[in-house]
Amino acid sequence: MEEKMKSILFDELYFQINQKELPNRTKNNRDHELKTIYEQKTGKSVLIMTKTKRIQLYEWLKKEVRYPLLNDLIKSEIGLLVDPYFALKLTDEHQEDQFINTNLSSLLEIIRMQAADSIFLVLQDNTASLSKITIKEREDIISQILLEIDPSGKWLMIYYEAKEQGRIINVKECSSKEKEILCKKLELSEDSLSENACIRNKINHETYLLLTLVGTTEDILTIMHEFGHYLFYYYNLEEEPNILLKEFYPTLLELLAEKYLKKQRISEEECNRSRIENTAYLGQYYMVTYDYIDKYLTDGIIKEEEDIQEQATIMNNHKGILEEIFKEQADLFSSQTIAYQNCDSCIEKIISNPLELRQSFSYILGHYLAKQGVNRIIQDRQVLDVLREYIEHGLDLDLYGLFKLVGCDVDKLNLKPTIESTNRKNKEKSLKK
Ligand SMILES: [Zn+2]
Repeated sequence: MEEKMKSILFDELYFQINQKELPNRTKNNRDHELKTIYEQKTGKSVLIMTKTKRIQLYEWLKKEVRYPLLNDLIKSEIGLLVDPYFALKLTDEHQEDQFINTNLSSLLEIIRMQAADSIFLVLQDNTASLSKITIKEREDIISQILLEIDPSGKWLMIYYEAKEQGRIINVKECSSKEKEILCKKLELSEDSLSENACIRNKINHETYLLLTLVGTTEDILTIMHEFGHYLFYYYNLEEEPNILLKEFYPTLLELLAEKYLKKQRISEEECNRSRIENTAYLGQYYMVTYDYIDKYLTDGIIKEEEDIQEQATIMNNHKGILEEIFKEQADLFSSQTIAYQNCDSCIEKIISNPLELRQSFSYILGHYLAKQGVNRIIQDRQVLDVLREYIEHGLDLDLYGLFKLVGCDVDKLNLKPTIESTNRKNKEKSLKK
């Protein structure tokens, strides 16, 4: 019976969130099944399914099975995070999934720390306007930065080449006809053009930077970030980057560019705001989900009573603040209401986009590692050379090795290596030569 109740609730929420029906059960079927179950379980009969009655019945259903459904969904999210066959990796040895599987609790801990850090920075709100620059100034600075990162000039040549081939596009300057052609060519929807992105054509592998530039120093960081994606695709024709590296390299280039701007006194302002905001947004959006995953990993189950009890403790600890903000209304907050809200919002997020949690890992951990990386590179320039070798030779970077390489204290972070494959060791050996 519980299985059926969970699946009715899932289907109804799926319909409410996505505005489309799953093939197996229409609204009428759902209502009918729910009515039968309700009558059986409560002994009350439902004569007519009015709109109000319908709402009542679904509220009852939620009360009965929201936590069992939450447990199912959290379990499947963990499955997606550690699934070796996810994302159709072509030649990967699945080490990243093993790494995430082995270290999920520790990674969650790092993610929560980095997210809190970014949320704090965003809240501090630095509204200083950024310096305006001309296109020529911008391009000169980008050339200098690329030469500093790669003194051989190879990366700069790749950048020039991309520009000459018309692969770097400021979407704001495109006519609507040009936009239409672009979308068709890259199989994109028109509204996805408003974001900055690096897109590779699935068939001929042509890669484009689609940018929305604003004419300030921020553009330099935007271009460097997306060019980081471009470089990965350039050197890894067939492959998709793995989850943690996906945003690591671009964010590393972006943060190196920011360091350069500050060192040259070109921009004093905090100009990597958009990236911090991304990390802060995703962190805030998924914080409750991270908490539930953590609980699930520790206890093997998320229990309703415990969740409510935990809310009660948190509220008790912050009683003073709550009363200050909400005055007499503070009494209206019940730990149960808040626990249910958390639970329902987590369920909704997973149903609306089950894969996005993985994306949040990629952004937040990528940001964390890149931040560490920049500090490490300042102490030891060779680290940058090693990272460049990895990207240029399409080598799989052992993620445990990456944490170590950028100077993270893996013992303190509680990170464990996955089983080393001899294959990878050989690759590393040949790299050192
Ligand atoms: Zn990116």
